[in-house]
Amino acid sequence: MEVPFVDLKAQYQTIREDIDGAIRSILDGANFVGGKPVKDFESAFAAAYGVKHVIGVANGTDAIYITMKMLGIGAGDEVITTATSWISTSETISQTGARVVFADIDPVTYTIDPAQIEKLITPRTRAVIPVHLYGQSCHMEEISRICKKHNLHLIEDCAQSHFTAEGNKLAGTWGIAGTLSFYPGKNLGAYGDAGCIVTNDDELARKMRMYANHGALVKHAHEIEGINSRLDTLQAAILGVKLKHIQQWTRQRIGHAAAYNKLLSGIGDLQVPLTRPGTTHTFHLYVIRTKQREALKAHLERAGIHTAIHYPTALPNLPAYRYLGHTPADFPVATEHQSLILSLPMFPELTQEQIAYTADNIRAFFQE
Ligand SMILES: *Cc1c(COP(=O)(O)O)cnc(C)c1O
Repeated sequence: MEVPFVDLKAQYQTIREDIDGAIRSILDGANFVGGKPVKDFESAFAAAYGVKHVIGVANGTDAIYITMKMLGIGAGDEVITTATSWISTSETISQTGARVVFADIDPVTYTIDPAQIEKLITPRTRAVIPVHLYGQSCHMEEISRICKKHNLHLIEDCAQSHFTAEGNKLAGTWGIAGTLSFYPGKNLGAYGDAGCIVTNDDELARKMRMYANHGALVKHAHEIEGINSRLDTLQAAILGVKLKHIQQWTRQRIGHAAAYNKLLSGIGDLQVPLTRPGTTHTFHLYVIRTKQREALKAHLERAGIHTAIHYPTALPNLPAYRYLGHTPADFPVATEHQSLILSLPMFPELTQEQIAYTADNIRAFFQE
């Protein structure tokens, strides 16, 4: 049996007619930038998220950058984020001219540790960017409280957490803005690069929309200098089709995680992911931990089971951040995490047979 890590072809087959129809209508209309499909998707997403504004942008990285830039974050400022994430979260802080300040993660949830945030706040701190890693909600009650107390902007990186919630409040709606990625492999994925920003702030929404479109809301009326970071029309049409299925796909992911958890509990030193009580973990990734990660990964690969590592190196341990002068000992939890983690196959179309086969092979590995 072959178990892919993600199977985008399988998903396309389930929605082929609608997708092909949506693409054809764009080609027939030959309006490839902006237009009704973009507006329609933004409205549909705003309704699904219960927010006032959705600004479609070119990708999830730009979404973070544009948000910070339009909040006026720049040189002389500090922004606190998690040591365990994809580099977009931190590289965009540097792009604004601000300084990246990394906080270690919670050893149980793998998301930013609120206690570490408080310790890192200085008079220069302007914002905190928690990342709902793997689809697990950060400790948002606590992080919101810290941000309010210290008057800091709260920007949530929701690239891995479409419809993740704490209580009944969605990830991305706790602070000034939430940023999402629609990279193909994300829970809601386009067929190319795409992203968006969600916010309830009218003035910020206006600025971000303007900045992402060369500083103009109306053609040739450039109020400021901006960038070109628009949500592609073809991608918006595709996302409009896929949005109708996201709740179902999310339920399937949660079901697969429960099946894995059941089959994988009590094996050797294996740790299965925990869903923090009172939250909805949407399982963009299903990440297990074991000291025998490398050997297990090789064993599964031989059995045709494809796995991945998110991420092999914690951000502050990367060469890109050598200039900050940290040592791995500064982030003991994130550094240990990077050596233990393994992401198992996870996508809505994964079958019970594939899950059972994967679990059997893991069990066999630990019995050898
Ligand atoms: C994917 C991802 C991004 C960036 O999204 P792109 O659309 O690829 O630019 C940002 N942050 C995190 C945590 C991600 O996983």
